[in-house]
Amino acid sequence: MPVDGLKARGTFSRPVLAYDPRFIEHVSSPLHVERPQRLEAIVARLVAEGLFTDVLAPTPAALPEVRRVHRATFLEFFRDLKEGFLDPETAVHPETFDIALLAAGATLQTTRAVVDRGSPAVALVRPPGHHAGPDYGGGFCYLNNVAVAAADQVAQGRRVAILDYDAHHGNGTSEIFADEASVLYVSTHQYGIYPGTGAAEDVGMGEGRGFNVNIPFTAGCGDASFHAAYDEIIEPIVRAYRPDVILVSLGVDAHYRDPLTSLALSSAGYVDLLARTARLAKDVCGRRLVVALEGGYHLPALAEVVAGTVARLRGSRIDLELTQAIDLEGKGRPAIEATRRAHEAFWNLR
Ligand SMILES: [Zn+2]
Repeated sequence: MPVDGLKARGTFSRPVLAYDPRFIEHVSSPLHVERPQRLEAIVARLVAEGLFTDVLAPTPAALPEVRRVHRATFLEFFRDLKEGFLDPETAVHPETFDIALLAAGATLQTTRAVVDRGSPAVALVRPPGHHAGPDYGGGFCYLNNVAVAAADQVAQGRRVAILDYDAHHGNGTSEIFADEASVLYVSTHQYGIYPGTGAAEDVGMGEGRGFNVNIPFTAGCGDASFHAAYDEIIEPIVRAYRPDVILVSLGVDAHYRDPLTSLALSSAGYVDLLARTARLAKDVCGRRLVVALEGGYHLPALAEVVAGTVARLRGSRIDLELTQAIDLEGKGRPAIEATRRAHEAFWNLR
């Protein structure tokens, strides 16, 4: 049965994509790193690999759906601004609000489809969302796409795990669900860069204590560190939490070729991390896995990681070129141990 707001262009036999050409129309400012060519490069690679199929067309999120995570005053300010800035790198133009609503709608509708059908999907959206909080945007983000999708599932009585593999801490997502036990937020990020949040000791508050998990990596952490964090922190916590659906905030800016950060994941490291997450979703929540695009600013790395992920979700592989393994010994050990100490009261991580 078709899901509300999604028009099928293809069969439902395989994991699907969500995409809309309007996502290309978002231009924050000329020469901005969060640029239309990011999504164009992803689509071009998917087309070249024969993977740009089963693409669902989204509709904009409705205001009540967005109000679950953003305050009405912020939404009115953003909608009425027309030209201005949410922060110096997050410019608003007359079309920005509508495109941001479409990105949020795409992520929400993809999640509903995944939950209904029990197979994974990838939401190819711009602008990204994880830095947008209850009453602010910033860091190239306007509305928090993944948070809107998660809150929609919580409203239907479900428990959601959000795994944020972007190189930056998702301060917006973290704050939105800080006191919420129905959403588990787990973030791997380079600690100390923008936005400055995401210490291991920030475990959430009130009912949400223990459900906010930060793994604060330092420069140079790559494949060995991320996979150790996955083995020792992420998978055990997700298995214990038993979510009904897993949402991944997929930023590809932890890649060693990314110009914005100093993390060092390879393309193979990334795709394996997503493939392992998909197996986890198969085990704990009936393949209900949504991968939503966040950052990632080196176009070939971004394109091959996303296409490689789509291929693996469909049971195939593509050739990856940016596979230099820089972090072999696991430089992230201190970060993993800090997370373990911060969470030993909440989870069995031994
Ligand atoms: Zn990022």
